[in-house]
Amino acid sequence: MKDLPNLFGSMVFNDRVMRQRLPKDIYRSLKRTIAEQKHLDLDVANVVANEMKEWAIEKGATHFTHWFQPMTGITAEKHDSFISPTKDDNVIMEFSGKELVRGEPDASSFPSGGIRSTFEARGYTAWDPTSYAFIKDRTLYIPTAFCSYSGEALDKKTPLLRSMDAINREALRILRLFGHNDVKRVITTVGPEQEYFLIDKDLYEKRPDLVYCGRTLFGARPPKGQELEDHYFGSIKPRVSAFMKELEEELWKLGVHAKTKHNEVAPAQHELAPIYTTTNIAADHNQLTMELMKTIANKHNLVCILHEKPFAGVNGSGKHNNWSISTDTGINLLEPGETPYENAQFLLFLTAVIKAVDDYQDLLRISVASAGNDHRLGANEAPPAIVSMFVGDELMAILECIENGTSYNKKEKCDMEIGATVLPHIPKDSTDRNRTSPFAFTGNKFEFRMVGSSASISDANTVLNTIVAEVLSQFADRLENAANFKDELSALVKETIKNHKRIIFNGNNYSDEWVKEAERRGLLNLKSTVDALPYLISEKNIRLFTKQKVFSETEIYSRYEIMLEGYAKTIHIEALTMLEMVRRGIIPAVVNYLKDLSTTAYTKKSLNAQLNCELEEKLIEKISNLSSCLYKKIEKLESSIIEAKSQANSLDTAKYYRETVFIDMQSLRNVIDELETLVGKKYWPFPTYGELLYSVY
Ligand code: ADP
Ligand code: MG
Repeated sequence: MKDLPNLFGSMVFNDRVMRQRLPKDIYRSLKRTIAEQKHLDLDVANVVANEMKEWAIEKGATHFTHWFQPMTGITAEKHDSFISPTKDDNVIMEFSGKELVRGEPDASSFPSGGIRSTFEARGYTAWDPTSYAFIKDRTLYIPTAFCSYSGEALDKKTPLLRSMDAINREALRILRLFGHNDVKRVITTVGPEQEYFLIDKDLYEKRPDLVYCGRTLFGARPPKGQELEDHYFGSIKPRVSAFMKELEEELWKLGVHAKTKHNEVAPAQHELAPIYTTTNIAADHNQLTMELMKTIANKHNLVCILHEKPFAGVNGSGKHNNWSISTDTGINLLEPGETPYENAQFLLFLTAVIKAVDDYQDLLRISVASAGNDHRLGANEAPPAIVSMFVGDELMAILECIENGTSYNKKEKCDMEIGATVLPHIPKDSTDRNRTSPFAFTGNKFEFRMVGSSASISDANTVLNTIVAEVLSQFADRLENAANFKDELSALVKETIKNHKRIIFNGNNYSDEWVKEAERRGLLNLKSTVDALPYLISEKNIRLFTKQKVFSETEIYSRYEIMLEGYAKTIHIEALTMLEMVRRGIIPAVVNYLKDLSTTAYTKKSLNAQLNCELEEKLIEKISNLSSCLYKKIEKLESSIIEAKSQANSLDTAKYYRETVFIDMQSLRNVIDELETLVGKKYWPFPTYGELLYSVY
């Protein structure tokens, strides 16, 4: 595309625009506020707001909105117009600094997990000036954080920003010890690879399960699934390609670096990856990406499905969260260095991540927990529910040598002492790319692969930042007080490898042997959301979050409640949808088919009593037996849904949904799927898997 440079970021109030349009002193003061994460002066805010408004109006905007990310996992916005009446019945376009930096939406309709009842219903949104404002649908969007009036976070952005502060603070302490006095800020960077399905809109609308739940609740396997693996990286079909092109252009206008796009493993599944950026911006951009995927698909008469497991039997969708730590001076702290000293620093950060993942496996699992993602994690699909790390054979060998104090390469004899002159050169890309690992080191970053495709990436990154900050803080405490920095560093790295190497697993994570081996190693295997969530409120985790100032105890409990409730509600809606589809769609279809079969048999017999009706009779018998089984399963599911209401608390309720309602649904599904293979196509009221998965070309 010729004018790509003009298109990219054209709808963003970015640094270039600010430099052009803001008076020099205002620009500098805003930049300082951003760099030092300080509060903005109202005088400065007024000038910025006015320029932002002028710029937005030039671009056709009439409204502005504080855009935030409540606990629903999606974004929320309330549009106000710039228009303000004057005394002489005219209007002027106004936008003040106060309106820019702070909004006061009613918080009462957003999930608060109990915070709301103890405090005021009002909430407020505060501008996150590190994430640029942008224009979408003739509206100026201001990225904001959302809190209750008393300051508790009601969103996913606030804790993410706090966790970024935590890792900045603790990593700086470590860097000072290595003599990096020039570094002013440490940030984490993220590049999330987003998977999704595209299906035809007309077919989608005929499936209430897709419409209400985002996934199919039943559907017999088509003759062809993903076994031929002919879809992965296959040529992109014209309709999909038109969608991707428009999506990319719209994302570019909003400053999102959408880069790669390709077909994924399952039929109708695709992926989009952006170039990585600062974590909070990556989180905002990923929300925008998901939103635009949906709206643009719609324009192409397609539906974009972001659910983690829309179709049984083919791969589900996830988000590979590529994560690293870097300095404002441009050093990637997870990049193996060229010199031994750099490598010593790299090894310290690497072992900090290893220890963090081992100590807080539970939190990483919780950070990706949802009813949708349970269908992937712990359900014989990539990746497993057991958190482990992949570092590759070469790095593993190096870590083992450090642990044992032996030399790495027999030919080039080297002393493995950290910080000594001959620490081995750590190869940059010796990664043999283990695709089954939930948390893989891929050269200069970690790829956390457990994140669900529909989830906000904020939760996972909040946890990642916080747990690594905590370990860095423990390391810094020890190193700052060491008599001999080098000796202490060496001992610390050695000890950490020894104590935490159980979390490293370079083999096949999908194998049954690994499940047994992980159990021997004492690793957690939290199969479902309800198994995982109780760990959130453990003493260890409350201590972590409060110490690192990421969550208060109240906020942790509030999130715990919100997640349990969300889980139960999701299964509840699925169960009701299933019952409705069976009662109003499938039973009438089965009855009609049976009626036609019986009529045929009856007619044949009355024409000639000798005629063979074996086919009709056998089918009638089989379908009748299945139908009565179907009826029993419906009754069971109905009574379970009622029983769910009488559980004592939110954990018991969520557990009941998992252990009873969900199981009843699966067993009802089995009967339906078998019926689908027997009942004539023209009777079956819903599009089949074959139609849904192979309809877009
Ligand atoms: P894959 O082979 O897993 O498909 P790629 O190597 O193409 O992945 O890159 C995946 C993602 O990792 C991209 O979004 C890329 O921007 C991101 N990435 C690369 N370097 C970093 C980094 N330092 N921090 C965070 N993300 C990064
Ligand atoms: Mg990847």
